[in-house]
Amino acid sequence: PLTALSNVRVDVMSALVSFQRVFEVLDLKPLIREAEDAKDLPAGAASIVFRDVDFRYPGPDEVSLASLEDLARPDRSDNGRQILTGVSFSVAPGELVALVGPSGAGKTTTAGLVPRLYDVSAGAVEVGGTDVRELTSASLTEHIGMVTQDAHLFHDTVRENLLYARPGATDEEVWEALDRAQIGATVRRLESGLDTVVGERGYRFSGGEKQRLAIARVLLKAPPIVILDEATAHLDSESEAAVQRALDSALEGRTSLVIAHRLSTVRRADRIVVLEDGAVVETGTHDDLVDRGGLYSELYKTQFAERSGANSEYGAGSSG
Ligand code: ATP
Repeated sequence: PLTALSNVRVDVMSALVSFQRVFEVLDLKPLIREAEDAKDLPAGAASIVFRDVDFRYPGPDEVSLASLEDLARPDRSDNGRQILTGVSFSVAPGELVALVGPSGAGKTTTAGLVPRLYDVSAGAVEVGGTDVRELTSASLTEHIGMVTQDAHLFHDTVRENLLYARPGATDEEVWEALDRAQIGATVRRLESGLDTVVGERGYRFSGGEKQRLAIARVLLKAPPIVILDEATAHLDSESEAAVQRALDSALEGRTSLVIAHRLSTVRRADRIVVLEDGAVVETGTHDDLVDRGGLYSELYKTQFAERSGANSEYGAGSSG
């Protein structure tokens, strides 16, 4: 009986490990059910529209333990509080829209509604002119590339970590993406190159390197829409310049929604959407908003101007 009991323990432990893997995968996917008559987005569809969006994270009482998806939801004590109120803005195909606002204003939450990580409480989010709730999750995933602050790498080889963005890509295409993301040289220096295993017991990439690998994934996938959180708080200036070049490459020619932390991004954005306490308080170009003297101009002085250092990005002819 004792031997049998110890076998049971082994079974339970390995089941728990498998569960953890399931959650890791679920974390990356929309925790949402697909409509029965869901449609595929046509290739190349690339606009984003927020129509009067209200949002609150699902409360504990709405989370049923019956589904794995619910189990994977992050546990937050303030679930149920309204986070976004009446948010409306749009990103036309090929445009770059920057989301800015104080910490906790709802930028990450807003960005997450586009790939339908959560559903809106009221209003609608449309991609390519269709409500995301009417789209197949496969086509939504195919159209959107995301680079978040904490890029997730699987415990697998560098190659597999990239192929997951586009199964069937050749090694040549993988190298091209790595080079454009400014991480090719680093991978070439590794003894096993693309076969290097990543993670806990494998090679540990730094935060900046992981972010560039995530950018390489987006470049390989070449989606019409890119959603990007550009925070690179703890990077040194050398890797920051590399990340900047990689990001420029990822955004080129795509519909981009960027949680912006860089002066160079807000200055070239077609539109800046300023969020405060979950509502849009200002919209316009950098110059418009600086002139207006509202929340953006304050943020500009504290967040953006400070970060640009010796005003290298702020050229002649500006009001400073
Ligand atoms: P930051 O610049 O600090 O990243 P942000 O503007 O991106 O902030 P969000 O992360 O969207 O802001 O957070 C907006 C609000 O939603 C915050 O009050 C936060 O506590 C809350 N929130 C964020 N994620 C969740 C979650 N999974 N469940 C419940 N509440 C959440």
